[in-house]
Amino acid sequence: MAKTITVLRGGAGLRATTQISSLRACHAMSDQGETRTARSGLMSRIGSKDTKPEVVVRKGLHARGERFRLHRKDLPGKPDVVLPRHRTAVFVHGCFWHGCPDCDRGQRRPKSNTAFWNAKLAANQTRDARDVADLQNLGWRVETIWECATRDPSRLNIILDRLVRSWDSPSHE
Ligand SMILES: [Zn+2]
Repeated sequence: MAKTITVLRGGAGLRATTQISSLRACHAMSDQGETRTARSGLMSRIGSKDTKPEVVVRKGLHARGERFRLHRKDLPGKPDVVLPRHRTAVFVHGCFWHGCPDCDRGQRRPKSNTAFWNAKLAANQTRDARDVADLQNLGWRVETIWECATRDPSRLNIILDRLVRSWDSPSHE
């Protein structure tokens, strides 16, 4: 799939949630197909593995002396970073795939197959919301760090500092 994803603004909204439940089944399949292809395209454009958003977040937490585990498959949504000591699960979300509210990339829609993409991306968000709710019901605190924040060191530092401070505060367990 060499098609580039073009920006389409002001199209059908994120919440155009038609046939989400039936879409969920094909979501897993398409993750093996065009999603992975698009992702690897994204990766190659980013270049170095060290700039990968998850790695940047992990380094930031490690630099702050935090211990964590990765991709705990036993937890809803397989959070990217889990800090058991703080009972906190962190998702590092790609802006396009998960509908970032903070940047243009989160509002992009591919120009072709618009209905498919609207439904797929809406299904992603529905699943994300369900994972957050499930984790919270299990007593986990959930933080989402957007890819665009990981590309901006000062913004990421603010987010991580705030997170670490909140763990240090007396109101935290
Ligand atoms: Zn973003």
